[in-house]
Amino acid sequence: MAMRKLQLHTKILLAMVVGAGFGLLANRLDLASFVATYVQPVGTAFVRLIGMVIVPLVFASLVVGTTSLGDVRSLGRIGAKTIGFYLCTTVVAISIGLLLANLVQPGSGLSENAKSRLIEGAAQQDAAGKTPRESASIKDVLLNIIPTNPIRAFAEGQMLQIIFFALLTGVCLTLIGAERGGPAIRFFEAVNDAMVMMVHLIMKVAPFGVFALIAAVVTDFGLHILLVLAKYSAVVLAGLLLHMLLVYSLCLRLFSKMGAGRFFRGIRPAQLIAFSSASSSATLPVTIECAAENLGVPRHICSFTLPLGATVNMDGTSLYQGVAAVFLAQLYGMDLSCTQQLTIVLTATLASIGAAGTPGAGIVTLAIVLGSIGVPLEGIGIILGVDRILDMCRTVVNVTGDAVCAVVVASTENQVRRAPTGE
Ligand code: ASP
Repeated sequence: MAMRKLQLHTKILLAMVVGAGFGLLANRLDLASFVATYVQPVGTAFVRLIGMVIVPLVFASLVVGTTSLGDVRSLGRIGAKTIGFYLCTTVVAISIGLLLANLVQPGSGLSENAKSRLIEGAAQQDAAGKTPRESASIKDVLLNIIPTNPIRAFAEGQMLQIIFFALLTGVCLTLIGAERGGPAIRFFEAVNDAMVMMVHLIMKVAPFGVFALIAAVVTDFGLHILLVLAKYSAVVLAGLLLHMLLVYSLCLRLFSKMGAGRFFRGIRPAQLIAFSSASSSATLPVTIECAAENLGVPRHICSFTLPLGATVNMDGTSLYQGVAAVFLAQLYGMDLSCTQQLTIVLTATLASIGAAGTPGAGIVTLAIVLGSIGVPLEGIGIILGVDRILDMCRTVVNVTGDAVCAVVVASTENQVRRAPTGE
């Protein structure tokens, strides 16, 4: 009875703590295969349940969001604000990453012995085919946004392509007018509502899923993994924290009337799911619910800004890519010029746009950044070991950044509801 009264985010938080404790114990007692067989599937089932909703939700939500912005002019205004905000915060995030990595120099103080061990280990990972072999070119990333066949894009879950097609569909439904476009718009509204209902149902089992996900990660890695690359991990984590607490609070203060306290309380359930699933896309349904229900952002703005942000806006990922690129360059004894650092800003922006909102996507598109400044791609193997934990943390920032944008856009349109309907 008491359990039923607890708010969802408290239950999820509890599940996380218990999951971590369970994972540590299992790690100590060598119960990895027990956890993999009996516990992890519960987490996988949860992620699959949410994953099932993503494609229909993103498509329907973006079509509805686009059409409900009314005319093409307000779509242009809100679209420009959203994209502008996403780009600016991404560039700020990378700059923070670069600044910290240049100041702290996490790749420099290592002994020659430690360096060669790390580089040797990476070469082995590379030989085992665990690191990306080539980086996609920027041209390919951009061209790949246009689907040649939207149905294939749906089937393969190509989010950028789905977004592109959804936005165009929404614009065209608006252009053909309410009378002709109405039936299709109402259809997508119903699909959207049904998907939101599905998310409500799935969230009822979230604490079990989160428990299993955290337990599995901690059993696999143990918490000591962070110590192996402690300085590098610390720089990434410090950057993420700085960006989340300083930059986002500042944005809220400058562009909205919402206090940081209310914002962070309201978005907490989404942050917890982001942390445990390491996937912005899987978190998207919860992000939409938090923004609409707890932060008072109108549904049509949530429907437009958040699905876009889940794929396009990844401040945490781009910050981490900045740190990783400088760290690896330092390890390989390369001095990065100003032009190379600017290249990192440009390519990490594109790499974070191109990264899917799925676990580990950022480390794959990191290859684009490393390729652009000539750092050997097998360097990725060096940081692979700590990537999962950093991934969980950067996903929290990615999701938080999307929600800040939704609040800021709604505020500048004077559309934030004052009293939240619940948390
Ligand atoms: N897991 C991240 C996300 O879903 C992407 C990444 O950085 O790997 O937002």
